[in-house]
Amino acid sequence: MVSRGGREWQLTERIGAGSEGLVYAVGHDGSLVAKLVPDPADPVAYRRRVERLVRQRREPRTVRLLAGTPQRVAWPLAAVRTLRDDVEGYLMPDLRRDFLPFTALLTEAGRPDALPGATWATALAAAEALARLLADLHTEGYVVGDLNPDNLWVDAHGRVGMADVDSWQFTDGHDVFPGRMRTPGYTAPERMAPNAGTSGAPAGPGEETRAPAAPPVPPDASTDAFALAVLVHQLLMGGLHPFAGHPADGDYLSLDDNVLHDRCRLLDRTSVVLPRTAPPADLLPRALDALLRAAFSAAGSRPPAAVWARELAAARAPGRLARCTVRATHVHTVERPWCPWCDQARRGMDSYPEPA
Ligand SMILES: [Zn+2]
Repeated sequence: MVSRGGREWQLTERIGAGSEGLVYAVGHDGSLVAKLVPDPADPVAYRRRVERLVRQRREPRTVRLLAGTPQRVAWPLAAVRTLRDDVEGYLMPDLRRDFLPFTALLTEAGRPDALPGATWATALAAAEALARLLADLHTEGYVVGDLNPDNLWVDAHGRVGMADVDSWQFTDGHDVFPGRMRTPGYTAPERMAPNAGTSGAPAGPGEETRAPAAPPVPPDASTDAFALAVLVHQLLMGGLHPFAGHPADGDYLSLDDNVLHDRCRLLDRTSVVLPRTAPPADLLPRALDALLRAAFSAAGSRPPAAVWARELAAARAPGRLARCTVRATHVHTVERPWCPWCDQARRGMDSYPEPA
């Protein structure tokens, strides 16, 4: 693999798949990885996009975004292509040095093993860190477009990192680099084609879960804020997707179909049927409950990322959290007089069990 300046790099093992591409370890010091995109829709445009991002790394707005330790964004460091088959891609910092995949915190299965000390306080911290990162990059003029758990990372303190910068929407001088990617379950309804929800996940060669769609509306800060609200709900509800559930009025087709038809426990308890082991709907602090309802009600009322960051910080401020007297891993808002996780445990599932 070679950079534009002619420097050669050795790809070692394949370590994952990001949106549109594959990620490989580079060399042996473990600080860099390479994302390669074998079949970009427009290879010339893709290379130009990566080169502009590499150049923007020195701009003040990007420098501000990348400040702090650990660095929150896996910004492209250099455009590269493979020598053998001319596949385009880029080098970026290896987020595995500081973070775990986001799903380690999000899913019931991952949490006890990967983050044994994680509590609802960790989930709140991660939600705030994610909201703050999104607010910061919106301030600097970037739009993620395809915000979803697969391009997010988290650590035991709830700090959050983000990858797949090459799919962001941004401007460079007078040029606009549009965001095309979207992920089912994290796409705002106005970005879906009218029949999107009826066909399940968009299909295409090698694209079971994502498709470069030609959506009616391009991504913007508001569509990012929809995905943020979905992720916040998942973080605070033990992984439960806000639009999960079997429709009360018919067959389940997809999360997107539920989104299009407002089937959401928070908006209407009778719209979906959920397993009785789902975390109690009333575990949320009132302010966060109101923000989620606003986010899922209409695009016009969606709270921006900065408002989320402020309210999430308030929800975890000193004195706002209580620890359960039965189980030390149960943390909840002081607004709820008794422990929601004990309620859930009595129904057969504990999102925050004590480590074995
Ligand atoms: Zn409890």
